[in-house]
Amino acid sequence: SRTQPHYFGAGPALLPAQVLRQAAIDLLNYKESGLGLGEISHRSALAVEVVDSAKATIKQLLSVPETYEVFFLQGGGTGEFSAVVYNLLASFALKTGKKGKADYLVTGSWSQKAAEEAIRLGVDVNMAVDARKWSANGKSYGKIPDPSSWNLGNAEETAYVYYCDNETVSGVEFPYVPEVPEGVELVADMSSNILSREFDVKKFGLVFAGAQKNIGMAGVTVCIIKKQLLARPKDADLVALGIPLAPLVLDFPTIVNNNSLYNTLPIFNLHIVGLTTQLLHDNGGLKVQEALSNAKAKKLYGTLDSAPDGVYNCIVDKACRSRMNIVFTIPGEGKEKAFLDGAKARGLTGLQGHRSVGGIRVSNYNAVSDESIDVLVDWINTFAANA
Ligand code: PMP
Repeated sequence: SRTQPHYFGAGPALLPAQVLRQAAIDLLNYKESGLGLGEISHRSALAVEVVDSAKATIKQLLSVPETYEVFFLQGGGTGEFSAVVYNLLASFALKTGKKGKADYLVTGSWSQKAAEEAIRLGVDVNMAVDARKWSANGKSYGKIPDPSSWNLGNAEETAYVYYCDNETVSGVEFPYVPEVPEGVELVADMSSNILSREFDVKKFGLVFAGAQKNIGMAGVTVCIIKKQLLARPKDADLVALGIPLAPLVLDFPTIVNNNSLYNTLPIFNLHIVGLTTQLLHDNGGLKVQEALSNAKAKKLYGTLDSAPDGVYNCIVDKACRSRMNIVFTIPGEGKEKAFLDGAKARGLTGLQGHRSVGGIRVSNYNAVSDESIDVLVDWINTFAANA
């Protein structure tokens, strides 16, 4: 047991206590089998059941249509930056006989990293959005330029449009699903906001999310793909077009055809995904979770905005403020350190901004309780009153 922490870390992040309690039991002795979930074969009936039930709960929670497949990978979000390239270019090659280009909407450091990886793997990348250009200093993120300014390719040449639904470092979240030209697949990194709101799966070719923020522990990535995109030309045809062949651990058809068990999947970590998604389902599903997430975020931004002028500085444009990662700075020598020290003294931890941008970052994932937000809000107000 433990005292419930007021922890706002960006990931790995807080998990619901009841999930952890059940997981602790299952790590020792799963379903009275005499073995724990980290010990059983990934090919055993018990393990297959863990995979099938996590899949089924995700499908139900996100209303995933029959024309889509849910599967699990290792390699984290970063593994997906590469997997997207191999897999989406291969399905585009089957459709068109060509090596496709790719559009990237770069609105923060994670979409930037994804674009850089695509370039490294030889993709003709079009930075349809480079949001840094829109910032005051030309370097930082904090804005999503109006879609009328995006320079998107067309379905004859462009395999996919890639974006990150919530940028965890800079705290920029899309308030809408980007519109893409007919026939171009939309790919979304939802690592840090999946399960915090409803979305229409049918708008996407591929959605992926590393589990370690809102779904579970590091070690599994959840993917949802349009089944059509699993068809492939022959390897020789891909090679002839200059498209790199996917390593088998990132090859979506290989993973899907083997029920995500082509190689050893971390079954315990996936079980946490199953327990977390089941809990969300039992609590009323994503509509309920969305209302909770929105209310907590609104309270935090409201508190920051109503502080006396100049105490807190929220850098991100109001139109795309993240509900998951609330980022701000506290101008003045030593002020941020004083804020963090005072927070720590009140049991509020995990608030330091990402090392690349500094400042303060409050991660408001599903497992962060109203009570934790209230204790933090109280500290934000107290600090402002004494600033
Ligand atoms: N995408 C987003 C939005 C992230 O927040 C992160 C990690 N924090 C990643 C990708 C990279 O994930 P990983 O560390 O699992 O490779």
